[in-house]
Amino acid sequence: MHAGATLTVDLNAVAANWRLLADRVAPSGAGCAAAVKADAYGLGMREVAPTLFRAGCRIFFVALLDEGLALRRLVPEAEIHVLNGPEPGTEPEYLEHDLIPVLNSLGDIQLWTDLCRWRNQRFPADVHVNTAMSRLGLPADELAILADDPERLDAFDVRYVMSHLSCADEPKNPMNAMQLAAFKEVLGALGGFNASFAGSSGIFLGPEYHFQLARPGVALYGINPTPDSPTPMRQVVSLKGKILQVHTIDTDQAVGYGATFRAQRQSRIATVSVGYGDGYPRSLGNTGFAYFESWRAPVVGRVSMDLITLDVTDVPQDAVHTGALADLIGPLNPVDAVARAAGTIGHEILTNLGPRYNRVYTGGNS
Ligand SMILES: *Cc1c(COP(=O)(O)O)cnc(C)c1O
Repeated sequence: MHAGATLTVDLNAVAANWRLLADRVAPSGAGCAAAVKADAYGLGMREVAPTLFRAGCRIFFVALLDEGLALRRLVPEAEIHVLNGPEPGTEPEYLEHDLIPVLNSLGDIQLWTDLCRWRNQRFPADVHVNTAMSRLGLPADELAILADDPERLDAFDVRYVMSHLSCADEPKNPMNAMQLAAFKEVLGALGGFNASFAGSSGIFLGPEYHFQLARPGVALYGINPTPDSPTPMRQVVSLKGKILQVHTIDTDQAVGYGATFRAQRQSRIATVSVGYGDGYPRSLGNTGFAYFESWRAPVVGRVSMDLITLDVTDVPQDAVHTGALADLIGPLNPVDAVARAAGTIGHEILTNLGPRYNRVYTGGNS
């Protein structure tokens, strides 16, 4: 327990969040997968994936083959899909470890077709079509070729035709309906396949976005998938940082690199053992805030690599001493609020959570 901060991950909350999303899509007849890429969004795939499996989740999405290989050891019975597609030469790994590649191009489709013909077996794969993101998935020209010649999908077992929404967290954005129409057109042209469209936010756009499988990630980890309304999700993460030292400074004395903060009154400054080297965003300098129970303590001065400085002048004196803990992520400053103050999104706060924290997992055993 020499770490400067303790990160607590509530696995029961992860399980409850998955159940909430699964219940939300069930009336549409859709299943619910879980995206656990990037080490379960920084929370630890080793703990999170078995928890989700025990909660009933049977289908997982990762980005990389290596993530799929690691996940296979954690959930031997699950269906594992790999979003970034099969690199030529990796096919044996997919087969040996029972991983399902997402095919993002005609080249990927050809690769998988060749494999199936050569082995004389219809191995599973997903087909990802681009509908507006121009990121991954068959681009329009390749899609036109495929739509003219859907037999290109005959050699393998197409599990899902999928696409990805670019603006699902903005329910009023016309991109959503536009992408939905484009996706339906593709599905019509390719014929009768199961489909997957919605991530966390897409689930809340309504049943017509659910198709046969939703694949949420970030909402499982406590981020609000409906940023315009109160969150339906349970908080998963808390981060408590340890006070190393308390300084009393006079009016006009400076704090931190660049002397960007100057006290306007006699002030108490608590130095906490967390910094941008732990993933605490440097952009929170002079804008972030911590809590001691319900007392708010703003981050003053710049965030350093290993340290932040809090103005604790208004916090009761007995709550602030060497060894006392500050809520850096907690009930009054959940990840969404920290992200907003940092000018980023919760995904980035979570995936940056550092390796120096003392990590504590609660719940998740049954
Ligand atoms: C990451 C990802 C998801 C999960 O998205 P969230 O917004 O975290 O729910 C779903 N589908 C694809 C293709 C992704 O890359």
